[in-house]
Amino acid sequence: MDDYALVLNAGSSSLKFCVFQRLSEKDWQVASRGQIEGIGTAPRLSAKDARGVVLAGNSLDATVSDGHAAIDALASWLRSKWHGAHVLGIGHRVVHGGMRYGQPVLVTRQILSHLYEVVPLAPLHQPYNLAAIDAVFERMPDVPQIACFDTGFHSGHSQVADLIPLPRNICKSGLQRYGFHGLSYEYIASVLPEVAPEIAKGRVIVAHLGSGASLCALNDGKSVDSTLGFTALDGLCMGTRPGALDPGVVLYLFQSLELTAKEVETMLYKQSGLLGISGISNDMRDLLGRSEPEAQLAVDYFVYRAAKEIGALTAVLGGIDGLVFTAGIGENSPEIRRRICEASSWLGVDLDPQANVSGVSRISTAQSKVSAWVVPTNEELMIARHTWSLLGLMQPVS
Ligand code: ADP
Repeated sequence: MDDYALVLNAGSSSLKFCVFQRLSEKDWQVASRGQIEGIGTAPRLSAKDARGVVLAGNSLDATVSDGHAAIDALASWLRSKWHGAHVLGIGHRVVHGGMRYGQPVLVTRQILSHLYEVVPLAPLHQPYNLAAIDAVFERMPDVPQIACFDTGFHSGHSQVADLIPLPRNICKSGLQRYGFHGLSYEYIASVLPEVAPEIAKGRVIVAHLGSGASLCALNDGKSVDSTLGFTALDGLCMGTRPGALDPGVVLYLFQSLELTAKEVETMLYKQSGLLGISGISNDMRDLLGRSEPEAQLAVDYFVYRAAKEIGALTAVLGGIDGLVFTAGIGENSPEIRRRICEASSWLGVDLDPQANVSGVSRISTAQSKVSAWVVPTNEELMIARHTWSLLGLMQPVS
């Protein structure tokens, strides 16, 4: 069969993709994973097949300078690789569904315009997510597109968890906590019964620690609270975002330092967090390898906030049965996991130092009251599952 489906995750300078190929009515395989990076600077397309064999690693024409050009470049690479391929549908990661959208939707032009309305709530991601959808509308108008939202998994929170305590008439316009990284948490919740059956139905805190970082409190696999809120600025310290901030700081930036809204936005989204504290890098791996006190302070703050918020979400859950690490830092940094587990030992987390560096799933001792785990996330697969379901295709995708 020559049927394919794509998953796209479009960012400011990269377009990550996953190509699924249909083998039979209900069998799909990953034909390729890759990305176009350096969009607007030095664009390059790299891709591997499911076994890790390199399919592409080439520089692209410098005219690949925006989302539309990246879609064109990807489409022409796909045509060159899988001549005659029929694309059944495209699933997109869209960071913010706003008040209107929680569950994945088949995107129409009208829905796209609604999604553009919430760009100010996620300026770092949403415009690029939507530009990819727009580009597909223009270039491949017959291909159905499914938007999957990072906010969706959190839509069952209690009213009190999502409340923003400002005047009611202000909040009517959608001022509430939403939560993000929902596709990652949804995936983790879906695999816990298999990977960690003893905690899957219990009270679990999942730490999605990547460039963006947050925690999600799960009870019986459902999100009850999360550290990210109205926008993706709240909660933990992130690569370039500060996490929770006294709102008085923002007033000070406007009133005393007389910064413009754009300058404050840039500072909050792109210049703070690990980068702001260290003045060196937004990348945890870099910082862990540096000896400057500023780099160490940035790492200390990252761990401090994570441990503090684990305590807060434990209070929300009324206790904790399991702690799960995922995403770039959570999956790959034994040091950060060790430090967060040690800071959470008062809750009953007893890390097994050997397991923590061995690449196994369970990293706590057998007698640990609260078990700790490393579970790799797979947001693309979650998007694929939603896309399949909305297109009425046979599951499963694995
Ligand atoms: P995103 O998808 O949000 O861009 P990732 O989930 O890929 O982010 O996480 C990126 C972060 O993971 C970076 O800070 C990077 O330094 C960190 N990271 C990746 N590998 C390691 C490692 N071996 N040790 C420490 N940090 C790592």
